[in-house]
Amino acid sequence: MTEVAEQFTEEQSGETARITHWIDGAPVEGTSGRSGPVFNPATGLQSAVVDLASPEEVDAAVQAAKRAFETWRTMSLSRRTEIFFRIRELVHDHSDDLARLLTLEHGKVFSDAKGEVARGLEVIEFCCGIAQLIKGEHSEQASTGVDVYSIRQPLGVVGGITPFNFPAMVPMWMWAPAIACGNTFVLKPSEKDPSASMLTAELLKEAGLPDGVFNVVHGDKVAVDAVLEHPDIAAVSFVGSTPIARYVYETGTKNGKRVQALGGAKNHMIVLPDADIAMAADAAVSAGYGSAGERCMAVSMLVAVGHAADELVGAIKERLPNVKVGDGMNPDSEMGPLVTREHRDKVASYIEKGAEEGATIVTDGRDSGPDGNGFFLGVTLMDDVKPEMDVYKDEIFGPVLGVTRVETYDQAVKLVNDNPYGNGVAIFTRDGGVARQFQFDVKAGMVGVNVPIPVPVAYYSFGGWKNSLFGDLHIYGPEGIQFYTRGKVVTSRWPDPATSKVDLGFPQTR
Ligand code: NAD
Repeated sequence: MTEVAEQFTEEQSGETARITHWIDGAPVEGTSGRSGPVFNPATGLQSAVVDLASPEEVDAAVQAAKRAFETWRTMSLSRRTEIFFRIRELVHDHSDDLARLLTLEHGKVFSDAKGEVARGLEVIEFCCGIAQLIKGEHSEQASTGVDVYSIRQPLGVVGGITPFNFPAMVPMWMWAPAIACGNTFVLKPSEKDPSASMLTAELLKEAGLPDGVFNVVHGDKVAVDAVLEHPDIAAVSFVGSTPIARYVYETGTKNGKRVQALGGAKNHMIVLPDADIAMAADAAVSAGYGSAGERCMAVSMLVAVGHAADELVGAIKERLPNVKVGDGMNPDSEMGPLVTREHRDKVASYIEKGAEEGATIVTDGRDSGPDGNGFFLGVTLMDDVKPEMDVYKDEIFGPVLGVTRVETYDQAVKLVNDNPYGNGVAIFTRDGGVARQFQFDVKAGMVGVNVPIPVPVAYYSFGGWKNSLFGDLHIYGPEGIQFYTRGKVVTSRWPDPATSKVDLGFPQTR
């Protein structure tokens, strides 16, 4: 059994586990004197304390990564590939262990947690092809006797700051391509569910990754600021809420770093009158309430066009009593609790607010959910939501699905395009021509056609538009490789004394 898994056996026996940092290939106890609580959201009980890093502790991780970079960047592509294949096998073999940690700290049901690990694993598998991905170009005889070629080189030490809602997958979106490209990595995971990162660190070590290539520092704003201001960190990837994404982008770039900062979302699903309503209702329930709505790609607003509205609301309402809410480790549960008590209460307050603002509460999640101290909230459906309401404007990030009614396709597209977020969007229709027009018209980074959560496969890149992404490059896939490398172009000529002469003119390609 791994150390992290052992911690949870201790938790069940009544002792509170301590979650430390991971620096230079080993667990390192925090010295800042600051720590934070970690809860099991299904029981409401504290399961662990996590050390919160000071700037000095962040610096220790950066220095370890900086030392490791000197050798890691020189390691051959074939050796790096071999290590990545071993990482792939170990993460695959330990996917149940990782998923269990996710359920115990985040609350999502075990099957969903396994799905999270599987989607992260796809990115690791993509990175097993690093030799192919990092190739440059070569032009022979660009000028007489002169060849030109391009290479992509790693940046150095890069940082990753991740949200609570995908504690294994989102870090994999970052560390896997970053390390495969030859960088070394300092991860600052969410302090709400930090254990998956520690198990990941152990697995990477077991796979043969040299010490210092992957480091974990836990923490809050203090640690994030230390990452953003550290002179030895070349680039930062961030995923989280929009206000913090904006802050990370502005602070990181001000400090001379390359930054990609993915923010929040308000994802719309448009249902046209010709859609298969049963299929759309199934999709809306799955995408709205899966992971208790705590997904950046969750559908939170349904835009029902014309006569689709009554049928759609009826079909969803019919399905809701069957959604089984409970402890994520119970195989019968389909939806777990929310991550913290504060977040649960905040989400519940939006149901109240929706009613005050004039929305129709078709199903009220406050009336259901298991008894006990867990952070549970049942599923909520709100009809007649209007764009000026807070429940429309804010990212609620919980099991609350809103329906807004419009008369035409154009009105539906305008709603999406006027929204400040632009992460995912979906359209449900049987009309291929309209779907094609929608893909052309819509201002969002990821589009689903009869697919409610269009998270791209690992060999495309993930990212939104507008306030859902600050920075130029999307995460993972080909753009991830670009983000974690910089280009260099070499112009070369081998000595030929016969053609050598002084020429003060501008170089010309003849
Ligand atoms: P968050 O912004 O609160 O936290 C994200 C990270 O930032 C954490 O590591 C946290 O410790 C740190 N942080 C929090 N407050 C900070 C501050 N004041 N200064 C500096 N750092 C700070 O986000 P969250 O609640 O953990 O995650 C949910 C959010 O993430 C939602 O808005 C969701 O849409 C978004 N998200 C987006 C994507 C995407 O791909 N666009 C994916 C997953 C989650």
